[in-house]
Amino acid sequence: MPESLQTREYDVIIVGAGPAGTAAAAILAKAGRQVIILEKANFPRYRVGESLIPYCWFPLQRIGVLDRMNDAGLTVEKRSVQFVSADGKNVTPFHFFDHSDHESSRTWQVRRDRFDQMLLDNAVGLGAQVLMETNAKTLLRGEDSVEGVQAVTKSGQTIELRAPMTIDASGRDLFTVSQTDWRIAEPALKKIAIWTYYQGAKRDCGNDVGATTVAYVPEKGWFWFIPLPDDMVSVGIVAERDYLYRGERDPKAIFEREVSGQPWIRERLARGERVSDFRVTGDYSYRARHCAANGLVLVGDAFAFLDPVFSSGMLLALQSGVMAGDAVDEALKLGDFSASQFSAYSERLCHGIEAMRQLVFAFYDTAFSFGQLMKAHPNIRADLTDCLIGNLDRDFTTLFDAIAEFACIPDPLIYGGPEKP
Ligand SMILES: Cc1cc2nc3c(=O)[nH]c(=O)nc-3n(C[C@H](O)[C@H](O)[C@H](O)COP(=O)(O)OP(=O)(O)OC[C@H]3O[C@@H](n4cnc5c(N)ncnc54)[C@H](O)[C@@H]3O)c2cc1C
Repeated sequence: MPESLQTREYDVIIVGAGPAGTAAAAILAKAGRQVIILEKANFPRYRVGESLIPYCWFPLQRIGVLDRMNDAGLTVEKRSVQFVSADGKNVTPFHFFDHSDHESSRTWQVRRDRFDQMLLDNAVGLGAQVLMETNAKTLLRGEDSVEGVQAVTKSGQTIELRAPMTIDASGRDLFTVSQTDWRIAEPALKKIAIWTYYQGAKRDCGNDVGATTVAYVPEKGWFWFIPLPDDMVSVGIVAERDYLYRGERDPKAIFEREVSGQPWIRERLARGERVSDFRVTGDYSYRARHCAANGLVLVGDAFAFLDPVFSSGMLLALQSGVMAGDAVDEALKLGDFSASQFSAYSERLCHGIEAMRQLVFAFYDTAFSFGQLMKAHPNIRADLTDCLIGNLDRDFTTLFDAIAEFACIPDPLIYGGPEKP
């Protein structure tokens, strides 16, 4: 690590080179800001979260990577999401182009190792610096503001980098939240996910060839089935711990038991070969108490994470990265790095997260089904599709009033704003 990097003046330090961090870096580097990204991993690195939704198009356009999105090694085109009943017999597809003929209706499934590398290359191409295999350890705090980051480099050297703004894009590692009391879990969404990868599994054809499939299992559990490049599919199950771990502890045995009970998934995997170990995670829904402090803003999963059933994570990561990039650029213009600079950022981001959160609660409510909702309220199909595609900057009162006839809709969370002095 050259001495000069520590003594250089930066406008912004970004912790984490996932989609949220590199989206923010691209916006700020484009605006001519001095940006440095610290990334603890060696890229390309593995990540789950492969299914994009249509409104990802807009942040991807802002950071200038749309022309790279149709590379066959990187993406599979996704035109729909489909919901399959627990007996495998009823398939309800939502085709995005039925709702809008905008280019964004053709979205993508991505290989995250390659996609995240492409986003990082883009940010670097725009002028951002990056220190790979550099682990941010602590926030450097001045009297009343974050002033930078202490980190350990690949060679084991401890460094201190200073800047008026730090963006925490550390994902579920929760760099800031783990140094504060800001983690607030969502106990009602306490689920476990077990997943793996297959090659050569059966795929649908026509408009559904790249669809994300959500296939129900009993007690409101569900499988995801996501076609990826190289004839791979990502396939996983999400459910309550007590349901999954009844009588079994071994992830492989649990996964195979559930596959045998879900005919749609069973049929598709029958002709494929598993090419990866099983991965397990749990307890993942939370929101930080604050999205910003003086000199600091949180983006993507470092701020909040929602159950992945509607594939909202990547949209929220990319969009919050772009929004925070714009807000930090404005703070630099004004020379005002106070937490309150991020009030509008918080309001817009939390509004979007709330819409998705309410839909997730409805999904897990045993009294709710999309079929029933559409039958009772055929006029709200467009509102529902807007939510599913990620068009979140709008009023969903009518939609959630209709859903509330079938499901318990939670009150909005009252935290997530900037820290107050
Ligand atoms: C089971 C599961 C399934 C999912 N499926 C989907 C899906 O289908 N669609 C979807 O949209 N989303 C999905 N998600 C969510 C998605 O994975 C995340 O929302 C997305 O990766 C968030 O991006 P990010 O940039 O915030 O964080 P990440 O992609 O996690 O990037 C954070 C980066 O920060 C680095 N880092 C962490 N700590 C430090 C540190 N101290 N110093 C330096 N670097 C650090 C990490 O190495 C990493 O590269 C899923 C999540 C789970 C758990």
